[in-house]
Amino acid sequence: MAGGWARDGAVSEQIEASISDELARMQAQKRPQGESLTHCAECGEPIPEKRRVALPGVKLCLDCQQERDGAFKARGGVNRRGSKDSQLK
Ligand SMILES: [Zn+2]
Repeated sequence: MAGGWARDGAVSEQIEASISDELARMQAQKRPQGESLTHCAECGEPIPEKRRVALPGVKLCLDCQQERDGAFKARGGVNRRGSKDSQLK
């Protein structure tokens, strides 16, 4: 632990880098971009053309997308609790 501040700076830089890395990954998952897939990346089911047109860059069929959205909502529980409180008013 000798010679402190330079090391601390390096560590927090590393942490910031991994956080922005994580954010970029999450955003990429939320908003798929690029080519739409003709078949679901998860289960291999064909993705209807209407869905591909409506959601450019879609990579999942409806079932898999809903499953993934559900997992996202379960994890982001803080926001949900907040909106519930305001509904209870
Ligand atoms: Zn699927």
